[in-house]
Amino acid sequence: MPRPALARAVTAAVASTTAATTRRAAPAAAATAVRRALLHTTRAAPQATEATTAPTSAAAPIPPPPSMIPNEVRQDNRAPSAAARFAQSASVRYDWTRDEIQAIYDSPVMDLLYYSSTVHRQFHDPRAVQQCTLLSIKTGGCSEDCSYCPQSSKHATSVKASKMLPEDEVLAAAKRAKEAGSTRFCMGAAWRTAAGRKTDFKKVLNHITEIRGMGMEVCCTLGMLTADQAQQLKEAGLSAYNHNLDTSREYYGNIITTRTYDDRLDTIGKVRDAGIKVCSGGIIGLGESAADRVGMLHTLATLPEHPESVPVNALVAVPGTPLENQEPVPVWDLIRMIATARIVMPRAMVRLSAGRVRLGMPEQALCFMAGANSIFTGDKLLTTGNNDWTADQQMFDTLGLIGLKPNLVEN
Ligand code: SF4
Repeated sequence: MPRPALARAVTAAVASTTAATTRRAAPAAAATAVRRALLHTTRAAPQATEATTAPTSAAAPIPPPPSMIPNEVRQDNRAPSAAARFAQSASVRYDWTRDEIQAIYDSPVMDLLYYSSTVHRQFHDPRAVQQCTLLSIKTGGCSEDCSYCPQSSKHATSVKASKMLPEDEVLAAAKRAKEAGSTRFCMGAAWRTAAGRKTDFKKVLNHITEIRGMGMEVCCTLGMLTADQAQQLKEAGLSAYNHNLDTSREYYGNIITTRTYDDRLDTIGKVRDAGIKVCSGGIIGLGESAADRVGMLHTLATLPEHPESVPVNALVAVPGTPLENQEPVPVWDLIRMIATARIVMPRAMVRLSAGRVRLGMPEQALCFMAGANSIFTGDKLLTTGNNDWTADQQMFDTLGLIGLKPNLVEN
């Protein structure tokens, strides 16, 4: 059925529902009519697909989801879950309370998946998943002591300190990434801070300009920044700066002792003030509680602006790090994190990042349903292994995903 006809069918069914309800007659029959119309919509999906590939505008008037469970099928008198309540009034809020976010996170997982998915469709094209590539341009020897990181000089791991990659290698990697379908190229340097690294910082500025010139979004993670450095990055054409909060303020000291949560927020503020998009998320599986995960999401969701990107990582335990014996988190925890992030920061790109290597296609599909809309492709994620590129392309084919175009619009 063509889309206008579909729209007419749904509208007619909704009108019939309204009329039936107004007359207080046969509400169950009216609900059935709506369901029939929606069933028609589902069957017509192949024809409607092509028209839905354009990104959905945040302001687009999308009808609310058919969220009410018909009385004749409901099995008990339970109240709607927090996921249902907050998702139905989906809006961009900055005044979330921790209790509200905790209640969403604790919602029954099938409810959480359904409602985060509906929010996702209100703000994003659900078939579009951005492929990004992350390259370590300066590996190892970092003076920070992040417990999860094999690049810290405080941990005895197999990762050795090396010099910055030469420019031709960095640019060749970006070119390969673009040819393989990536639209964002991220460069990571294992530095506590970029301050006092004039020569190397200048090289990074040059990489940014060159890679931006290839038509890709460019992101960097270089440690703490001065306001002046943030400005220079902006002028070089940087799209986004990654600076993860990792976990809650309360749990932070268990994971990192060489910097504070406020150091982190300070750099995030400088990045935002320079007009660069903020990429900030965290890692689950560090031994934190659910309340810590919620605490981190609460900090991000109550910033003056939500991060443009929220990476959700699951720990990849690396031998030699203090967290080497940490048990992997269940996939459901990852799904809860993604879904909750999607509901409380609906415009953000939620990036399924480290730990994806442990997930099969069905598990990744659930993550995309929950609201993840970006993955990292390529051989490595900084120093740890990543999913096979061919398997990723097969996943895109099987799930009907399309690559997201680069967003080269200035902030
Ligand atoms: S996560 Fe970054 S800051 Fe922390 S030790 Fe690793 S490279 Fe250094």
